[in-house]
Amino acid sequence: MSALSRRDLLSILTGLTAFGVGTTEAWAAPGKRSIATSNSGPASSGSASKSPRSPKSATKPATKPTVQVKPKLVFLDPGHGGKDSGALGVRGTREKAVVMMIARLLQKELQAGGRYRVMLTRRNDSFVPLRERVARAQAARADLFLSLHADSHPDADIRGASVYTLSEDATDRETAALAARENRADGVIAGLRLADQTDNVASTLVAMTQRSTVNDSRRLAETIVQTLSRNGVRLLRRSHRQAGFAVLTSPDIPAALVELGYLSNRQDEKLLTVRQHQTALARSLRASVDAYFAAGAATRKA
Ligand SMILES: [Zn+2]
Repeated sequence: MSALSRRDLLSILTGLTAFGVGTTEAWAAPGKRSIATSNSGPASSGSASKSPRSPKSATKPATKPTVQVKPKLVFLDPGHGGKDSGALGVRGTREKAVVMMIARLLQKELQAGGRYRVMLTRRNDSFVPLRERVARAQAARADLFLSLHADSHPDADIRGASVYTLSEDATDRETAALAARENRADGVIAGLRLADQTDNVASTLVAMTQRSTVNDSRRLAETIVQTLSRNGVRLLRRSHRQAGFAVLTSPDIPAALVELGYLSNRQDEKLLTVRQHQTALARSLRASVDAYFAAGAATRKA
């Protein structure tokens, strides 16, 4: 299901809720919540109006009219921020700082090709609640949501990156504990409260939308795992896992959360602060986003 039809379903649902069918705060429909317009709002790339097409292509004798490809909007979510430092490294590295640096590098990587617009859920060291991050991506009608984190573990030997997508119930105890850590900032573990929706029509529509979003999210996560592995980035044994992350609960935006390594491990902590490795991570993630959209376009044409 394309993002457009997902949104059609959601607008039907928004209409239903307007007639009192019921609503839930687990998702925020565009227009139901106002996006912050102050300085704390998400940073815009400023390159939105640039055309990705070279003017030369128009001079060729073309049999088909040139199709203007609208740049995809990628929402990057550097985890934590402000009073919430996230994980703390053995040598004092703060998660909120390293994920911001890597998010900035990834933003540059994505914008360089002219195929994407990029927005960040936070653009400085500020605290943004998890549900507000989701609401900002929805208000901007993002095509993709990528949350960046670095993990911590009592066992200092554990290291490697891992990628997470949303599950309705986090059965894996480790994964559930991680989701609880990442969700702590809001004092809630949101999970998928839409599953509690009682109305049949509404829940069917939401379920359809979510199923396609979850499938796309899983495809994205698998792509990231493969790309990181191909580029020599060390991964956890089970590198794609599922958990109830509050920040991944948008029903219509494919989303993944990447734990880029363990700050509790000396080698991972060092790597995460080295510019060369940060750049390698950013390039791998950019390649993953490229592959994700390329595969999506191929599926729709088939
Ligand atoms: Zn984190």
